[in-house]
Amino acid sequence: MSMGADLTRLIVGLLIGMIIPRLPLLFFTRFINMERHLTPHPDPIPVGIPLIQRLLLMRRVHAMCWVVAALPLIMGLLIIKSSPEPFALGLVAGVSWFVISRAIPQDSNSGFGILPLSLIQDINNLREPETVCCQRQLLQWEVRAIRCLHCRSVAMNVPRPDLGRMRSDGLLMGSFRVLLMDGRSPFPHDSIVAQGVELLGKVTEEE
Ligand SMILES: [Zn+2]
Repeated sequence: MSMGADLTRLIVGLLIGMIIPRLPLLFFTRFINMERHLTPHPDPIPVGIPLIQRLLLMRRVHAMCWVVAALPLIMGLLIIKSSPEPFALGLVAGVSWFVISRAIPQDSNSGFGILPLSLIQDINNLREPETVCCQRQLLQWEVRAIRCLHCRSVAMNVPRPDLGRMRSDGLLMGSFRVLLMDGRSPFPHDSIVAQGVELLGKVTEEE
């Protein structure tokens, strides 16, 4: 068989291996109308019970991705066992990328996974915050952080991940973004940025 055909099969396998594990993330909460208590995308979501419920649901959806990932992985490995088929190699490589992208935590302080339980607990605590920023405190999760609507003070510096709402950027573009970012926010955690700036400062001092 020609080299070109083998390469095409490898790439097709790779793409399918990358997309299949993420199918729950793309479609599970978006096909049916599950937005009743949530503001439409990309508006900020008030910190409250509907948000916590959605976060817990998204954790389950992420867990579902692992189950779905097993299927192409087992299929690919079974095919490779009998013959070195490029499609199967691509499939296994694609799923492996999914596993690696999730096994490595986004920053060393946060827990395992894209939506660690510790983060959901911290957000749940914000429903009854210990400190009050202003008299009309209304916390909501914006794209980059959880802030008060009225005084704009930041309650928690965490960019908002994809919460499975119907996307305002359309099915195609929205799905592509979710695939690309794996449901994470495209904005880095500020702690990472701060570490980077600090590191850069040290380097320039040494020079
Ligand atoms: Zn306030």
